[in-house]
Amino acid sequence: MTDIVVIGGGIAGVAAAAHLAPHGSVTLLEAEPALAYHTTGRSAALFVLNYGEQGFRPLTKASESFLLNPPEDATGAPLLSERGLLWLGRPDQMGNLEKLALEGSESGANSRIVDLDEVLQMIPVVRPDVVAGGLLEPSAQDIDVAGLHQVFVKMTTAAGGKLLTNQQVTGLKRSDSGWQVRTVEQELHCDVIVNAAGAWGDVVAGLAGIPPVGLTPKRRTAFMVPGSEDFVRWPMAVDADQKFYFKADGVQLLCSLAEQRPSPPEDSRPQMEDVALAIERINEATTLGIRTVNSQWTGLRTFAPDGNLVAGEEPEAPGFFWLVGQGGTGIQAAPGYGALLASLVLGGDLPDELAGAGVDPAVTDPSRFRS
Ligand SMILES: Cc1cc2nc3c(=O)[nH]c(=O)nc-3n(C[C@H](O)[C@H](O)[C@H](O)COP(=O)(O)OP(=O)(O)OC[C@H]3O[C@@H](n4cnc5c(N)ncnc54)[C@H](O)[C@@H]3O)c2cc1C
Repeated sequence: MTDIVVIGGGIAGVAAAAHLAPHGSVTLLEAEPALAYHTTGRSAALFVLNYGEQGFRPLTKASESFLLNPPEDATGAPLLSERGLLWLGRPDQMGNLEKLALEGSESGANSRIVDLDEVLQMIPVVRPDVVAGGLLEPSAQDIDVAGLHQVFVKMTTAAGGKLLTNQQVTGLKRSDSGWQVRTVEQELHCDVIVNAAGAWGDVVAGLAGIPPVGLTPKRRTAFMVPGSEDFVRWPMAVDADQKFYFKADGVQLLCSLAEQRPSPPEDSRPQMEDVALAIERINEATTLGIRTVNSQWTGLRTFAPDGNLVAGEEPEAPGFFWLVGQGGTGIQAAPGYGALLASLVLGGDLPDELAGAGVDPAVTDPSRFRS
């Protein structure tokens, strides 16, 4: 008998499994031949406090100490490394940056407005006739996404949990004795289901006859262009209106249009025009003169109607827990929402690190979509 079945092997599924495995028998089921094949393997890998819906930010804050001090036996190298984030503003965008600075101070981000000279010292390729200044968040850091995913995998297996690939869940049924979970290969019985199926969250709920919460997957394309040793210390540069960004990744430069186009849940692929438009905008704001693309990919950032996480038990289906709607902050907030989900499944008081960061389970409760 498996107590808990987690559906989805992205960062959300393994974060939940890692926090639940010490308390019950956990089996994680992933449809693909490999874990982290979808959105989790396609991110920009940044930790930044001043980002995402207000209801999400306490979960990012609550994740910081885990990311700085992961369990020693589960990791070989630090999960965070210095990066910094520099929002770039044209003269007409400087007001937006001041607003963003205010939001940042409310989220505990130590950000400050910088003038053009300071922008040019940090990123000399910025065009001084286009950009007027910036907002610097020095505490933003790169995340080792594969390393973090692996930490959760090791925590799960060390506690006796199982992670199974090639196991698309095709049927869910509730009976008096719990839940029946059918996959393409087998049938399992459990007390608790955790729906961490990312863009497919509403589809998985539908298998159990549970109405959707209204998730919208949104495309975002990223691509690598040739970089240089000279770029590796640059902070990540983001347009004040999020119309493009670029960030050093080794000796390459990771770039994006930062687009948010609604999509069905699918294995999404880049479209040439999104890459071309991003290159045009980055070349307008800098002297980088990008002409070659080394590689490109698209991931789906999935949002609930109010932009906040959906974590909690479905009111009409005891034992069915949602863990979806991670949007653009699903990597950086994973330790926090993994701990939150476990505490909701297990019951009892909210752990101190979540309560201390201002996490409020009412904000993530799926019942907000059921009135
Ligand atoms: C370009 C880009 C940049 C980003 N940058 C950042 C960033 O800098 N920082 C940050 O924190 N976040 C970032 N994100 C967002 C982050 O990547 C996501 O929030 C996060 O990966 C979502 O994880 P997930 O586990 O919910 O989804 P996924 O990784 O998509 O995992 C869901 C899994 O469920 C499986 N599944 C679906 N249906 C079934 C089924 N029926 N049976 C079994 N398995 C099933 C899927 O195969 C999939 O593996 C970025 C995203 C993109 C696209």
